[in-house]
Amino acid sequence: MKPIKQSLILAAAISLLVPASSRGQAANALRQFISVPEPVVALTNVRLIDGTGTPARTGMTVVIADGKINAVGPTSSTRPPQGARVIDLNGHSVMPGIIGLHDHMYYSSVGGSMKPMLYSYPRLFLAAGVTTIRTTGSVDPYQELNLKAAINAGQLIGPEIFVTGPYLQGVQPGYSVMHSLEGPEDARRMVRYWAEEGVSWFKAYTTITRAELSAAIDEAHKHGVKVTAHLCSVGFREAVAAKIDNLEHGLLVNTEYHAGKKVDECPTGASRGDVYANLDINSADVQRTIREMVQNNVSMTSTLAVMELSTPDRIPPDERVLDAVFPDARRALVEWRSAERPVNRSDHAALKKAMEFERAFVAAGGTLAAGSDPCCLTAIAGYADQRNFELLVEAGFTPEQAAQIMSANGAKVLGIADRVGTLRPGMQADLIVLQGDLTAEPSAVRNVTHVFRKGVGYDPVRLTESIKGLVGIR
Ligand SMILES: [Zn+2]
Repeated sequence: MKPIKQSLILAAAISLLVPASSRGQAANALRQFISVPEPVVALTNVRLIDGTGTPARTGMTVVIADGKINAVGPTSSTRPPQGARVIDLNGHSVMPGIIGLHDHMYYSSVGGSMKPMLYSYPRLFLAAGVTTIRTTGSVDPYQELNLKAAINAGQLIGPEIFVTGPYLQGVQPGYSVMHSLEGPEDARRMVRYWAEEGVSWFKAYTTITRAELSAAIDEAHKHGVKVTAHLCSVGFREAVAAKIDNLEHGLLVNTEYHAGKKVDECPTGASRGDVYANLDINSADVQRTIREMVQNNVSMTSTLAVMELSTPDRIPPDERVLDAVFPDARRALVEWRSAERPVNRSDHAALKKAMEFERAFVAAGGTLAAGSDPCCLTAIAGYADQRNFELLVEAGFTPEQAAQIMSANGAKVLGIADRVGTLRPGMQADLIVLQGDLTAEPSAVRNVTHVFRKGVGYDPVRLTESIKGLVGIR
């Protein structure tokens, strides 16, 4: 990070995204999305899920002052400070703001092109309770860096953003909007360039070789930047040996259990269902993967909502997704949902195995975080993060553990656990208010009534209204 460069980016961002003449109006226009502007607020009578994984506590008060959590205690004994706005939230749950670790700023719909969603996604993430994201594979890091700067400067509304470089992909087939690496030196060059431009993470992608991956990680670490990966040609244990920091998607992209897999190549032949549906998570092979990840401090990002796209029959209908996407995408989604297709039992079984793998990883002491991968189909910003919560509970985590995975653990992976991710005095006031009892009904995660980021309360309904029909366009 170079401070001078950052301030240049900031100036550029503000002039680019918000012309000087209308900056005042822009700030005014954003005020309509703020429902709780007061600097001192007491949320009383809440069911508190604090992000530590410990059981929820009822009848609690959370006091917010000047952007931070000032006090947390029983409502009966926690007096709101003088002048505080008191909001009685009887019947509501409060959890930390979601930290999404695989939360792209793009959407691919009809035609498949990866389009940056710089307008709709920041609002949609925030509306759904996502207060921090890592973009984990960027189509256009400059736009994301400028967006981040504009949000930091208060010119735009959205989550805190950890910008990732473009995908580090090997030979084609890969994304045509991405560069294909031509060897380890090329990987170093690309990492060096984007690290100096200000990205804080990279994502290695499916066709990268072990030599390119090792070089990329080595170069990234020299620049104080970290690396995660959506793997295929390289197995999890090979990536751990190369000193990777984080692994995306979990079991269903770990190809090391494919019989006959060639080094540096994606396996061919066997389908996902064939390989994973009957995999024994307690087998020596799988346990060895988990052990090596844990011993080497390699975290994992659960993306169950996007994995569920391969079993469309089990995805609960969500009218909110149809309302958010543009008309062509809406039509395509309705068609996709209603298409006649046989229920693929082995894909269902594989998804269950992925859940079992995540539980075993956590049981072994691994750090599991989560991300939505809002790339396509029904997986869009924010709503897919909420679906992750439901799927983590289905996987066998308690609601409190699921909340911890989606907040505190994400903060730990990003190195910001001292500032966000748990609800205790001194922490940044990033939190979500949900109508209902989240510990009894996981779908309550969809009932967001307020989202606080840095102590400012945003109105999810107004934010969502403002992006209706725009996902897929801008
Ligand atoms: Zn992704």
